[in-house]
Amino acid sequence: MDKLIYRFNNQSFKSIKNSKDILGGKGANLAEMVKLGLPVPPGFTISTKVCDYFYKNQKKIPKKLIQLAKKEILVIEKISEKKFGDLKNPLLLSVRSGSRVSMPGMMDTILNLGLNDKTVVALKKRTKNGRFAKDSYRRLIQMFGNVVLGIESHFFEEIIENYKLTKGVLQDTELDESDWDGLIINFKDIIKKQTNKNFPQNVNEQLWGAISAVFLSWNSKRAKIYRKINFIPDNWGTAVNVQAMVFGNMGDNCATGVAFTRNPSTGYKEIFGEYLINAQGEDVVAGTRTPQHLSKKFKHKSNSTGISMEESMPKIFQQLKKIFSQLEKKYRDMQDIEFTVENNKLWMLQTRSGKRTASAAIKIAVDMVDEKLISPKVAILRIDPNILDTLLHPTLDEKAKKEIIATGLPASPGAASGKVTFSAEEAERLKEQMQDSILVRIETSPEDINGMHAANGILTARGGMTSHAAVVARGMGKPCVSGSAEIKIDYENKFFSSGEYQIKEGDLITIDGGAGKVMLGKVPTVKPDISGDFSKIMKWSDKYRKLKVRTNSETPADTKVARDFGAEGIGLCRTEHMFFDDKRIISVREMILSKTLEDRKKALKKLLPFQKNDFVEIFKIMNGLPVTVRLLDPPLHEFLPKTEKDINNIAKELNISDNDIKSRIVELHEQNPMLGHRGCRLGISFPEIYQMQCQAIFEALIECKKKKIKPVIPEIMIPLVSTAAEIQILRNLVQKTAEKIQKEHKIKIKYYVGTMIELPRAALRAKDIAKYADFFSFGTNDLTQTTFGISRDDAGKFLNDYVDNKIFHKDPFVSIDERGVGELIKIATERGRKEKRSLKLGICGEHGGDPSSIEFCEKVKLNYVSCSPYRVPIARLAAAQAYLKKNK
Ligand code: PEP
Ligand code: MG
Repeated sequence: MDKLIYRFNNQSFKSIKNSKDILGGKGANLAEMVKLGLPVPPGFTISTKVCDYFYKNQKKIPKKLIQLAKKEILVIEKISEKKFGDLKNPLLLSVRSGSRVSMPGMMDTILNLGLNDKTVVALKKRTKNGRFAKDSYRRLIQMFGNVVLGIESHFFEEIIENYKLTKGVLQDTELDESDWDGLIINFKDIIKKQTNKNFPQNVNEQLWGAISAVFLSWNSKRAKIYRKINFIPDNWGTAVNVQAMVFGNMGDNCATGVAFTRNPSTGYKEIFGEYLINAQGEDVVAGTRTPQHLSKKFKHKSNSTGISMEESMPKIFQQLKKIFSQLEKKYRDMQDIEFTVENNKLWMLQTRSGKRTASAAIKIAVDMVDEKLISPKVAILRIDPNILDTLLHPTLDEKAKKEIIATGLPASPGAASGKVTFSAEEAERLKEQMQDSILVRIETSPEDINGMHAANGILTARGGMTSHAAVVARGMGKPCVSGSAEIKIDYENKFFSSGEYQIKEGDLITIDGGAGKVMLGKVPTVKPDISGDFSKIMKWSDKYRKLKVRTNSETPADTKVARDFGAEGIGLCRTEHMFFDDKRIISVREMILSKTLEDRKKALKKLLPFQKNDFVEIFKIMNGLPVTVRLLDPPLHEFLPKTEKDINNIAKELNISDNDIKSRIVELHEQNPMLGHRGCRLGISFPEIYQMQCQAIFEALIECKKKKIKPVIPEIMIPLVSTAAEIQILRNLVQKTAEKIQKEHKIKIKYYVGTMIELPRAALRAKDIAKYADFFSFGTNDLTQTTFGISRDDAGKFLNDYVDNKIFHKDPFVSIDERGVGELIKIATERGRKEKRSLKLGICGEHGGDPSSIEFCEKVKLNYVSCSPYRVPIARLAAAQAYLKKNK
């Protein structure tokens, strides 16, 4: 077996390559602090490898470890001039967990090990502080009872609380030595009663019990859940740090505190932290006493009356300040620190990279580049792209009170409040009256587009992260909570219920699309400030990325947002989304319901000017950048009238009977529409539809030319191709349409024709397909759906079970399944490029805005990613990170 124990100040530590893997974050940083010459109480770290051994060997501690630990304790005894279990000058130890990455509060810690009925008397004599000695002993019994023996902590807490009540005091600090004496007896009784054993008086039994308990806490329920949420592998295990205790609770020249080297909320370079005089570390976090600020500045800012550390312990405060800058120089990052002052001597107990808000992360990264602590490359790599989301959308005021009534999937970030409405029309009506609304639907369909635009946010009871509502909302930058299974909607009676709540149409609710939460009433929001630092990070990202970043957009408003966020083109313009405008839907329905080619052509003619104008607008905004226009994709019945009123309207318009319409609807019904008459299959059956769309694109180009708008080279994209023959036929159709228009207008038109790769067969036959395609765009929403055979609209119902059972590590509709879907992308990329070296490759599924999928796109050398407008900055940063990681 590898080395089991590492002394904090042992030189052998230097030779460990990935020190955090072996020593855990806490152990590695304690050793670093010793190396820097900072005051750290002596101790040692038991390697994470032992944790691995422990679980592989019926939860046994290796014998060799016991021998090695004995030797290390001798070293601690020598340095501290105390002895473990000694009856004159007892050494007390702490045992703390420490995994590779911090898992705050998830695992266990035991303090004051080494106290028993005898050593506590020695401690009292030695420190001349009976209250401190007894308080330390009861803390040990309490922690040991809870962590090692598994007794719920409320048993102990209740006894203290009841005792304080009878004594008529509020604070623990008001209890004296004799009070603790009595409580110690009570605590020991609890242990005896609950476990049928006595609290161990043998100090070694205490120590090894504590070490085993820390290993066991790696697999506690809460630690497992935390790992699942944060994608931390179960096999990493925890290290254990055994260290001499120092005390912040021995009197008024003692203190304990936590600090950040910069302000973790704003990122400003100022000392930010709290401390408590005469207390142990847990008191600061427990909230039983109100901690005071470290600096005078913060004390004044918060109108606090307590004395700051800068005033009460000025020398120590200055020493801390010096240490903060030493640590920042060493780690080149903002640090989160724990310290203790024992009899006017400062001890450092922990340092780690501090958690921070999104805006602080950006400010700190940019400031550190200015301070020459890090390079722009490091700054880029340090920011989690996903956090940018919170900077681009309004967020809920953190201080506001919230009453959560339901939860769902965090489908599209941002917060919105408004009146509950159950129909798109009502949302539009409210908008006309300048009123805010939240559109609540069981699920949305393309017909709801206008309502979604009009509403301030969207809430659905069904549907996953790539459901219609989620995709469209993200595209629009509208907050959306999807798949909230808790809510039951009654359209007829216009209310929804969630548990005990019943929310009627017109009631105010708030949704947080970044957290997947639904709240009662209007919760105030704040508009985040996108400072100059943000654009600096973006500029650096652009310098270091190879992947281009485009956007998925079909409306002028969205396209404009995407351009402002730095989109370098449109990677997917879903033309069907343009069909749902009130004025066009009638003609769209007319087209679908037409029985003859002639009738269909008539309807298409009405649609042509609308489509043409849309393209002119978009081309104008894109100002010469590439625009990929996808020809009609979804099954036609999605556009059909559903209500009696709509059926009646369309019947009148077409001058046929309601029953005729109804029978046509039945004719068009499909059992499995996602695998049915959609995509290029529509183009094959009804070439006139694609013809009209191409005509609109080409005529828009001509119009732009007339208006002296910078020319765009459109990329016409054929959806859902599975065979070379399909694209061959449809490419021909595009070509013929172009030729006709060129002839008519005597103008040369430049354009490309390509296809989406959304079906496994298309990926496998990429070589044949590439013969007829100038570009491929991976439609990974459908490719994921068709590779797994899992419906993208229904997956939400069971995906959690798959993640719980570790079948899926992550939702494959969010992050690319590299081994399956990714393999198909790799195959298609290689085979396609083999046929045509100039083949342009991109991705336009939702994965195009997901940082880990973007990393994959860089690995397989795609040319661009395309994502919804609000994800463009995220993709720019993620693309830079992907390039930098690949070329480390
Ligand atoms: C896809 O399938 O990935 C895609 C982009 O097309 P849609 O989501 O419109 O089916
Ligand atoms: Mg698709």
